[in-house]
Amino acid sequence: MKVLVLNCGSSSIKYQFIDTESGIALAKGMVERIGMSNAVLNHTSYGKDKIKIVGEILDHTIAIKYVIGVLLSPNHGVIKERKEIDAIGHRVVHGGEVFSGSVLITDLVIKTLKDFIDLAPLHNPPNIRGIEAAKENLPGVPQCAVFDTAFHTRMPEKAFLYGIPYELYTRHKIRRYGFHGTSHKYVAQKAAEFLEKPLENLKLITIHLGNGASITAVENGISVDTSMGFTPLEGLLMGTRSGDLDPSVILFIMDKEGLNISEANTLLNKHSGLMGLSGESSDMREIEQAVAAGNKRAKDAFDVMIYKIKKYIGAYIAALGGCDAIVFTGGIGENSVEVRRQVCENMSCLGIELDEKLNLNPQGECDLSAGNSKIRLLRIPTNEELVIARDTQRIISEQMK
Ligand code: ADP
Repeated sequence: MKVLVLNCGSSSIKYQFIDTESGIALAKGMVERIGMSNAVLNHTSYGKDKIKIVGEILDHTIAIKYVIGVLLSPNHGVIKERKEIDAIGHRVVHGGEVFSGSVLITDLVIKTLKDFIDLAPLHNPPNIRGIEAAKENLPGVPQCAVFDTAFHTRMPEKAFLYGIPYELYTRHKIRRYGFHGTSHKYVAQKAAEFLEKPLENLKLITIHLGNGASITAVENGISVDTSMGFTPLEGLLMGTRSGDLDPSVILFIMDKEGLNISEANTLLNKHSGLMGLSGESSDMREIEQAVAAGNKRAKDAFDVMIYKIKKYIGAYIAALGGCDAIVFTGGIGENSVEVRRQVCENMSCLGIELDEKLNLNPQGECDLSAGNSKIRLLRIPTNEELVIARDTQRIISEQMK
């Protein structure tokens, strides 16, 4: 089956066109600056030259029309007819407590997603817009939703309840949900295959470090705790998000700086994290360059990020009562030699020993632990799009039975 995987943000759409049998992305790309006159579409088809289209793309419907256009392009595309797009798989950020797995998108599903826009005001509206835009462009093509929250829906209450009046949970569903679930689930499965052990017998800590970052404790294949919470703001220090802080800090800032709720949201989601602390960049490569050049604030930002990861590892070893392997994934986890090195530094007391040489130039899925490390330290590239494509294929095949 050939599945168009869409990850729709407020002004961008990332896409991949995946053959689920081979697992190969036949084409991939991204539309950015949707809604502006200088929108840009970058597209690459497997084995062909990259192309870039710049122009006015006013909304998601037009953006998807362009994506279908490049997929059909005789020179740059990979299909001859629209009907070669068998299905569409959407990354949907928030499934609330309703969706514990991927689903075929129906009118009822769209209505349910709209019902809990409150829970994910930044993420779910563009996801819904993407679903509606895809339906307009490809009527009749089945669509599935794959949720970032789904993997975490079996967390125990002790891990998902916050210490606030219980009625706030029952009334407003305020609880930890966790995100990046597709990635955590994928790398946990891959880790089990790599270790040649059943996932059901493993205690794993999966660390997804990208622009957003989260860490999950996985016991016997189930997410039992995770660092992101009610929204993706909680937990580790991220590119532009603060991660954990004393809730009073927010109230204090709103008061002192005269910020309203929306401005406080922007401050914590867009101007904090590596960006806010360093004043330089949200991008880890640039932070590392600034640290190497002696920039103190960049070093502070880097150190805070590392320190928080180390603390969560300690906490999750305690939560799991041990750990067989720690998995590094995401753009930073897969590629930053320095982040992995410093996270594992001085962690011998927990049985963590990194092989410095293996860490320097790892390729693909690999074990970076030294011979005496009690916990295996794995680097596993994530592939959320493939999970979305394969889930979509599975759900649609089940429907056709
Ligand atoms: P997203 O969360 O948007 O999917 P990615 O998973 O692609 O993001 O991760 C982006 C992050 O990975 C950026 O901070 C980027 O600087 C970092 N990154 C990518 N390659 C490297 C590298 N070689 N060394 C350090 N950081 C890297």
